[in-house]
Amino acid sequence: MKLRTFFLLSTAAFAAFALSTIGVLVVAASSTRRAASHMSEAINSVHAAAELQGNLLAHNREAFLASITEDPEHHELRESAESAVRHWTRAIGLYVQTPAEAELVASSERAVAAYLSERAELESRELPPLEVYRDATTALDEAYGLVDRLVDLNLAEARAFQADVERQERFATAFGIGAAGLLLIAITALIGGLRFLIYQPLFRLRERIARYGAGDSEARVPVRGPAEVRQIARVFNDMAETLARQREAQLRFVAAVAHELRNPLSTIKVSADLLAPSLHIPDEKRAEVVAAVRRQVLHLDRLVGDLLDTARIEAGHLELKTERCDLRDLAKEVATLYGGLSEVHRIVLDLPQAPVPCACDPVRVTQVLNNFVNNAIKYSPHGGTVRIRVERRAAEAILAVEDDGMGIASDDLSRIFEPFRRTGATRETIPGVGLGLSVARRIVEAHGGRIEVDSEPGKGSVFRMRLPAVD
Ligand code: ADP
Repeated sequence: MKLRTFFLLSTAAFAAFALSTIGVLVVAASSTRRAASHMSEAINSVHAAAELQGNLLAHNREAFLASITEDPEHHELRESAESAVRHWTRAIGLYVQTPAEAELVASSERAVAAYLSERAELESRELPPLEVYRDATTALDEAYGLVDRLVDLNLAEARAFQADVERQERFATAFGIGAAGLLLIAITALIGGLRFLIYQPLFRLRERIARYGAGDSEARVPVRGPAEVRQIARVFNDMAETLARQREAQLRFVAAVAHELRNPLSTIKVSADLLAPSLHIPDEKRAEVVAAVRRQVLHLDRLVGDLLDTARIEAGHLELKTERCDLRDLAKEVATLYGGLSEVHRIVLDLPQAPVPCACDPVRVTQVLNNFVNNAIKYSPHGGTVRIRVERRAAEAILAVEDDGMGIASDDLSRIFEPFRRTGATRETIPGVGLGLSVARRIVEAHGGRIEVDSEPGKGSVFRMRLPAVD
């Protein structure tokens, strides 16, 4: 899994969890608030009904006392009780919450109104006070009973709402504890996941890199953990493999150089022994030995030159001393140099009439040409013709060396310009370290040109350097 995906998923899961918890608690809180407000409405209704009942009784009583005593105080008390009855009759209508309650309130209002009008009607008939009291009390009982039922109904509602509030409170508490527990489990799982997914692979990575840094070149990082850590592990392992290959190549190179040095050195050593004054060898033989020494010294010189050039090129210190040259002159020089060296090879010059001018470092271009001609001779062990051709084609000045030697397999063609590359056929039989062409390619490219080869195994090869021409 990718670290990005892991963090995205965990954040999304936590956000969803937090949002749903908040949502549930908000819904629970608002329904508790609703139940509490219903409960308070019911309590208000009970209070209004109780007041109404009290004032009904007071009204009946004060009306009776006023009729028998004619005391103005009882008249006043009756008036105030009546206005209180009217007030609380309106008040019980303010807290209605259910249709049943609405019906009961309407019946109560009607019964109260009936009581008041009944009493007024009885009083207007001027009946004896006790009779009025008795008949009015019957109407009062009717109203009182209905208001009583209203009180009972509201008390029952208040109890139901209270139970509702308590249930919701219990639910919110249980839900809160459950959510906190879940959160704790999720955080523990997240920490465990982080440890397993990220910390462990990172610690392993650090430990292996430290081991590698301490000199254990075999140390590799196991490709495990999240995608990003696996990528780092792969990059590190690839880097370690590349370094291992480079070290192997360096060792192979040192071995090849040592091998290359040994042959000419042993020839020189034997020749030096032969030239000792104590050995009176004929002059002819002496000249042959001296020529052999010269050839080996030339070989050593080229080898050391190639090594120095490779080191310079690798360090980026290849300097060109550019001047205007005619490529024909450079070709002639090289042909003269190699002309007498081999008895079985014929050096042929193929030059145009017109000069082929080019802005180049003549020493370096001659070095490349030397490498081409030397290889052409070396890789035509049975002799043959080596043709050095100079020509100008459009904006290019071309120097080509053609041989009819052993040629190169097509698979090897693209690789012979890499340092230390030697083809399978020549590796064992013909001396060389595989540096000449890689140096040649860097030199030609530094001139802004390119190097190319055409070859056919058993038929021969053509090596060309194409340099930018000048007018
Ligand atoms: P070296 O000659 O020291 O091996 P070079 O870099 O000059 O190094 O050449 C690289 C390889 O290219 C040679 O080992 C050889 O296999 C191949 N090669 C170069 N020139 C020729 C040629 N003219 N004919 C056949 N093979 C060649």
